[in-house]
Amino acid sequence: RHIVIGGGTGFIGTQLCNILRHKGYGITVLSRMPGPQRMSWNDLHIKGLPKDTVAVVNLAGQNVMDFKRRWTPGFKQNVYNSRINTTSSLAKMINEAQNKPSVFVSMSGVGAYKPDKEQSYTEESKCEEFDFFSKLCKNWEKAATLNPESKERCRVVTIRSGVVLGKEGGMIKQLYLPFYLGLGGPVGNGSQYMPWIHIDDLTNLIVFSIENANVEGILNGVAPTPCTNKEFSKAFGKALRRPAFFPLPSSILNILLGKERAVMITDGQKVLPKRTKSVGFTYKYPDIESACKAIVTST
Ligand code: NDP
Repeated sequence: RHIVIGGGTGFIGTQLCNILRHKGYGITVLSRMPGPQRMSWNDLHIKGLPKDTVAVVNLAGQNVMDFKRRWTPGFKQNVYNSRINTTSSLAKMINEAQNKPSVFVSMSGVGAYKPDKEQSYTEESKCEEFDFFSKLCKNWEKAATLNPESKERCRVVTIRSGVVLGKEGGMIKQLYLPFYLGLGGPVGNGSQYMPWIHIDDLTNLIVFSIENANVEGILNGVAPTPCTNKEFSKAFGKALRRPAFFPLPSSILNILLGKERAVMITDGQKVLPKRTKSVGFTYKYPDIESACKAIVTST
């Protein structure tokens, strides 16, 4: 039982690999860097998927929130290509494989939904292309499409993930120090929604998708209790026992990150995991307080 994981070296991938190894799966990580139990993307094209591959997961993608990188056309192209090209390569390899894996789990983001303070979105909501991220999500999801013959033998699960909260990476890693110093606070007036999921729940959802033959299609990878940016700041500050009153003006983020990228933080959408719950997935951290507490107390 072998699982191939694109981007398995990253924040989410590292934790996913640990869980799957613990469960007794063999793992091959697709990476740009050589290493044990790794394969390069180039080798994948030449050799195809390992013969006994039962599942393929793609978590590769240039980190969008790398604040050291300016939001230039070149960087945007990197963000785009690193997701679309890796996903379509894996879809192609599944199409070409004699022994097909039984599931392909691919990522997407809640950026597929248009930020709105009123509307709630579920997996059934219409997604239009209205900005860079919505276009990226649409093409990312399209890249995971298999040909009709493969589709009959391999389920495709696409997880539209919210902000993944965990100590080792993603947003929390960037916010830990300012919040720890008591300098944290909401972005803007904080009333924008912030779709989120604890990393344990996201990795469990990927494992659940691999192991349950009834799971297929789009799943919102978000906690069942939506929260606003202000509610998150409050919960994170409380978990760290620090005040979190310092608001960060949206205008500053627009300058620092570029307006097009800053929308991920300055605007938000209320996303509900309707299908995720209906396929039977249960959350370890359904609310933001318990998630923040777990992150702060984890070693
Ligand atoms: P990381 O940035 O931690 O890791 C992603 C991995 O992708 C890296 O380990 C790297 O592997 C690979 N990668 C980076 N740049 C490139 C590139 N230019 N070309 C090919 N591969 C590249 O990401 P996360 O673990 O946080 O996220 C995994 C996926 O989930 C990403 O696609 C992300 O967009 C998506 N997601 C994440 C969210 C979050 O909050 N973390 C929210 C929503 C979606 P290597 O160096 O070994 O090649």
